[in-house]
Formats: sequence, C-alpha cells, structure tokens
Amino acid sequence: MEGNHDACRLVRPLFTAAVSATVLKSIPFTRTHVSGNELDYLTEAVRQGFTCGDGPFTRRATGLLKEMTGAAEALLTTSCTHALEMSALLLDLRPGDEVIMPSFTFVSTANAYALRGATPVFADCRPDTLNVDERRLEAAVTDRTRAVVVVHYAGVACEMEAIGELCERHGLTLIEDNAHGLGGAYRGRPLGSFGRMAAQSFHATKNAQCGEGGALLLNDAALAARAEIIREKGTDRGRFYRGQVDKYRWVDIGSSYLLSDVLAAQLTAQLESFGAIQSRRHAVWRGYHEELVDWAAENGVSQPMVPEGCAHPAHLYYLLLPDLDNRQAFIAHLAGRGVQAVFHYQPLHAAPAGLRYGRPAPGGCPVTERVADQLVRLPLFPDLDEADLARVIDAVLTYRVR
Ligand SMILES: *Cc1c(COP(=O)(O)O)cnc(C)c1O
Repeated sequence: MEGNHDACRLVRPLFTAAVSATVLKSIPFTRTHVSGNELDYLTEAVRQGFTCGDGPFTRRATGLLKEMTGAAEALLTTSCTHALEMSALLLDLRPGDEVIMPSFTFVSTANAYALRGATPVFADCRPDTLNVDERRLEAAVTDRTRAVVVVHYAGVACEMEAIGELCERHGLTLIEDNAHGLGGAYRGRPLGSFGRMAAQSFHATKNAQCGEGGALLLNDAALAARAEIIREKGTDRGRFYRGQVDKYRWVDIGSSYLLSDVLAAQLTAQLESFGAIQSRRHAVWRGYHEELVDWAAENGVSQPMVPEGCAHPAHLYYLLLPDLDNRQAFIAHLAGRGVQAVFHYQPLHAAPAGLRYGRPAPGGCPVTERVADQLVRLPLFPDLDEADLARVIDAVLTYRVR
C-alpha cells in the first residue's frame, strides 16, 4: 500500500474482517462528501451538452481556484499527476537533468519528472513536520539540477523562505506539489502561490474533490500560452476557439490533460462550499489534537507539529508511534474496534522504481525511513460526526504502547 489512493481501496477488505463481531457501524478512513449542489450542477452540465473540457463550469471552478490561491493562471487538468507532468514539459526537462524532491511523498511527484528522463534526487524530511528538510537541499544541488519540488505534507507549509532563497541563489525553478495544501498558507500567503508552478489534486481523497481531477497553477504568466497548448494535445485549439487563429494545428508536444466540464461541475460545487468543508475538517483535526495530548505524552507518541506562521487546511491527522511493531499493533487495535486507520508513504528512494530512476541526496534519507514505519493516519472527513469522532478517540485511548 502506498500513497493516498489506498484510502479508496482499503475500505472494504479491512472492514469485513475487523467488525463482524460487533453491531456498531465501522468508521472508514475516508468518505467522500457531498456539499449540496453537486447533483444539480452535474445535471446542468449534462443537460447543457457541454461535456468536454473548457466549458462554463471549467471557467467557474478556475475562477474560484484563482481567488483561493492568488495564482495568475489556473488550468484544470485530469489529475495532479498530469499537472506535474505538464510542469515537466514546460521545463523542457531532458535525460540527465536532476530534480530535487522529498523521498516522503506520493509516487506522482517523482514519476512526472522521471517520465521526461530526468533524475529524481530524493532529500530527507524534517522529523517535526515531515516536510523536505531545507537544510538538506544545498548538498543535493549539482550543475545538472533544474528544479526543486516541494510537498507541503498534511498541508503544513515547507520552510518556503529558505527554499525560495536557495532556488534563487542556484537559478532553480521552484514547483509546489500542493495536493495537500489547498486552503493552507505560509505567513499569510496561500500555498500554491510560491512556486513558479503548483499542482493541485481533486482526487476523491483530497479536501475538494471531483473523483479524479487536478489543476496546474501558474504564478509566471509567461508560461500560460504554452501550458494551454500542452494541455490540448500540443495544438493551438484554445487560440482557434477565441478566433485568434483561423485553424488549429499541431504546434508543440503535449497530451490530453483537459478536465471534462462534467467533473468541473462537481468541483465547482465543492469549491463553493469549501468554507463549510474546512470547518468540519478542522473540528475533527482539533478534536484529535486536543483529546490525545496526555495519551500521546504517556505513550511516547508524537502528534503533528504546526510551526508558527503556518495555517494548515486539516488535510490529514497523523500520529507517530514509537516503532513499526507498535504502529502495526495500533492499526490492528483500532480495526478491532471498528476504526480504519492507515499508514502512508513508503520512501521513494528505496522503492523499486526509485532505485532505478532516482538516487538519494547526500546523507541519505534516514528520517524518512524511520517515520514511514511509525506513521498512522486517523479517519478524517467532513461527515465524521461527533459520536464517531468520540469513538475513534476512545479506541485510541485504550491502546498502550508496549
Ligand atoms: C494525491 C496526491 C498526488 C496525486 O494526485 P492525483 O490527482 O491523484 O494525480 C500527488 N502528490 C501528492 C502529494 C498527493 O497527495
């Protein structure tokens, strides 16, 4: 199991085994949320017959996204993975180029650049925020380095001042994989607005979702014209529809990265009710954080650390157990009480494809290796009600670290 997509797949198998003995309904790790207008907007999208990309709902969702992130341009895509692939195409990455990124992230962060033949260079994470350790980046820079990709784990910002300064000093492009960070901020500035480009995810497991979807945010307007072409199979179809050229042609390499307007309709409903979604997510996050303080201290368990100046969007709530044995026993303990908790990223630098296509930064990734074994995520979704929240907390409190 690796990455966020596990959430969808794990719900059924774990459950039937764990709770057959109890009459209580089991609590899934995640459940997609309907905010109100999704079904109306989906019907409208289908009725108006504009089901391909770049229709009325795409414009609405794009406008909302630009307001939320302050991005100069935003392009809806079929996924965050594809937005990252677009960033690699926009950078004209070539075999031998290097891209520095955390080892503790989802596979897509690395895949997008490896697909262009570039080498992912995996840097270790900080033990407190689990974000890429900004003090480890300098040593990873070589004369082949082209870009640094940061991931704001759990939506808690990386040390953007130090990282921005390093990128400037070495002439590197800064990219944010902001899949967790929509709605988060660093020193008052929205996440997604720091990189020259930023990738968002609207996968079913993310704070705002349309099943499968994403966006590429551009904070450098000079990239916009080419980004539009790359998203439209390398054609200037966008310009043709605006009457700027009299036919559309193949003008660059590209692929089919445009989100259907039907999915943009669902996304529009989610973005419009983002405030309500977020207040429920924050209530659950705070519930765990406050109620588990004493238990965590008594059992040598670490809770998330949110540095001063970081406003996080309650994307996920995790605990770090002392070791792998306790982590596994803790997950089993919760499952036995009808609570589905899951682990998260397995270190990319040690994964089969990570070994083949990338390499660790000098010093390796010992912190990543340790925390990947310790981490457990608790159920966190807008419709987790007070009673279920209390049940999860009770289940946690009855576990004793051994
Ligand atoms: C979810 C996620 C992705 C992939 O998102 P998709 O929209 O499913 O492609 C990429 N990076 C991170 C950090 C993620 O959490």
